[in-house]
Amino acid sequence: MSQIAINFQDAQKAFLILKTLDKDKIAGFLEEMAKQIDAIRDDLIPTAARESHLPEGRITGELGRTLGQIRLFSALVAEGSWVEATIDHPDPDRKPAPKPDIRRMLKALGPVVVFGASNFPLAFSTAGGDTVSALAAGCPVLYKAHPAHPETSRMVAESIKNAVRISGLPKGTFHHIEGGIDTGQELVAHPLAKAVAFTGSYRGGKALFDACNARENPIPVFAEMGSVNPIFVMEGYLADRMDAAAAAYASSLSLGVGQFCTNPGLIFVPRSQEETFAAAVVDQLKEVAGAPMLHEGICHTYYQALETLTQSKKLKWLLHSEETDVLTGNVALAKIKASDWLADEAFQEEVFGPFGIMVVYEDRDQLHALAEKLKGQLTCTIWAEEEELQSSGDLLHLIEEKCGRLLFKGVPTGVEVGHAMQHGGPFPATTDSRSTSVGSYAIKRFARPVAYQDMPDSLLPEALKEGNPMAILRKVDGVWVNY
Ligand code: NAP
Repeated sequence: MSQIAINFQDAQKAFLILKTLDKDKIAGFLEEMAKQIDAIRDDLIPTAARESHLPEGRITGELGRTLGQIRLFSALVAEGSWVEATIDHPDPDRKPAPKPDIRRMLKALGPVVVFGASNFPLAFSTAGGDTVSALAAGCPVLYKAHPAHPETSRMVAESIKNAVRISGLPKGTFHHIEGGIDTGQELVAHPLAKAVAFTGSYRGGKALFDACNARENPIPVFAEMGSVNPIFVMEGYLADRMDAAAAAYASSLSLGVGQFCTNPGLIFVPRSQEETFAAAVVDQLKEVAGAPMLHEGICHTYYQALETLTQSKKLKWLLHSEETDVLTGNVALAKIKASDWLADEAFQEEVFGPFGIMVVYEDRDQLHALAEKLKGQLTCTIWAEEEELQSSGDLLHLIEEKCGRLLFKGVPTGVEVGHAMQHGGPFPATTDSRSTSVGSYAIKRFARPVAYQDMPDSLLPEALKEGNPMAILRKVDGVWVNY
C-alpha cells in the first residue's frame, strides 16, 4: 500500500472520531494551532522571507493575517450556528398525510486534499484559509506542500501536528505531504478524498478539476485560478482626480511585484481621458524599482508572457520591461483599442506579475460590450460617480454577473478576512462561483446538508436536539430563534 493510501486510512479513522467531538474541542484545537505557529514566529518569518523572496515586513503582516484567520474560524466553530440547523416540526393530524419531523444541518464531508499557493507562503498555504476552514468543518486535511517554500511548510506543519497532539485530536487529522504533480494526482484520485481546495494557475486548477470529475465518484474541486480584475473607469470619476487615480492604479498594479490574484491587470479607460491618464500612470510606474519575484519559474513565465504579447501588433507599449536576471520582476504597461481587445480573448489571460493592459473605449455602448465579453473574475472595480453609474442602464448588473466581489472607487488588492468577504468568482476565476476561499463562509465548501427524518432526540446531533443544548441560532418552523 502506498504512503498516501496509508495516510488516507488514518485520515478516515480521524474523520469518524472528529464527528463525535464537541464543537469547543475543535475550537480549542484551532486556538492551540494559532498559539503553536505564533510561538515559532522568530524562525518562521526569516525562513518564509528567504524562501519566497518576499520582504520580512510583508511576511510579518501575512503571519498576522494567518493567525487572525485561524482565530476567526475558532470563534465561528465555538459560536456554532454555521451548521445552519433547520427544524420543521411534525404534524400528525395533517391531511391527507401526516407531516413528518424533519431536521437538517451541515455535516463535514470527510478527508480533504489542499494544495498550497506559492504567492502566500503562510496565509494560503500549510495553515492557510483552505486548511483551516476544512479543519474547522471537521474534515481531516491531506496537505500537498508547495515546492517553492518547503522549509516554511514543514515548520508550520510541525506546529499543526503539535496542536493536534496537545488538543487530544486523532493523529490522522492533518498530513503534510511533499512531492510533485504525480503526488498531487494520486491524492485527488484516492477514493477516500471527499473534496479538493487549490490556489494557483489555471492549468493546474483545471487539470485537478478534470481529474476529479473523471473519477468513478466525482468530488468537488474548489480551485482559485486566474483573474485579471478589471477596473471600469467612467469619465466623471477621472475628471476631478486624475493624478490620485493614476497613483492608486500604479500602486495596486505593482504591489507585491504584481503577484496577487487580485492584481488589476486590466483597466478600461474612456478615449477622451486616456492620454492624460496613461501619462500619469507611466510617471508613477517609472519610479517603481524591479524586485525579486517568488521563484525563477514564475519570473520566467512572466517574461515569456510579455514576449508573447509583444508579438501582437495590436498592443502599444507604454512601458516595456526586459528580463534583467532570473528573479527580478519589472513593471510593464500596454494599451489597446477596445475593438481589438474585443476581437481576441488572448488579451484577457492573466499575466502573473506587475503588468497591466489599458483598454481604450469610445463610448458607453463599447463599455457595455467590454463588460459583456469579459470572462469570470474574482473582482471587478468601478471608478465612476454614483449618478453616471445610475444612468448607465444595466452596466452595473452586467459587471456584477462577471465577478465575486464588486468594488466601488477602490482597488482590488487587499482582501479583508471576515464574515462577509467573497473571494471566488465565475469560471475561469474559480471552478465554483458559489464558494469563497477567504473569510468564514469558506467553511461551507467542506460540509454537506443531511436531513434526519423522525429521528429520536437521543440519536440526533446536538445541533438538532429539541432543547437546543448548544444554544445556537436555528430556523425552527421557518422562524430564526436561539432557544
Ligand atoms: P501551479 O503551477 O498551479 O501549482 C500549484 C500547486 O499545484 C503545486 O503544488 C503544483 O505541484 C500543483 N499542481 C499543478 N498542476 C498540477 C497537476 N496537473 N496535477 C497535480 N498537481 C498539480 O501554481 P504556482 O506554482 O504557484 O505558480 C505558477 C503560476 O500559477 C504562476 O505563474 C501564476 O500564473 C499562477 N498563480 C496564480 C495565483 C492566483 O492566485 N491566481 C497564485 C499563484 C500562482 P508542483 O509544483 O509540485 O508541480
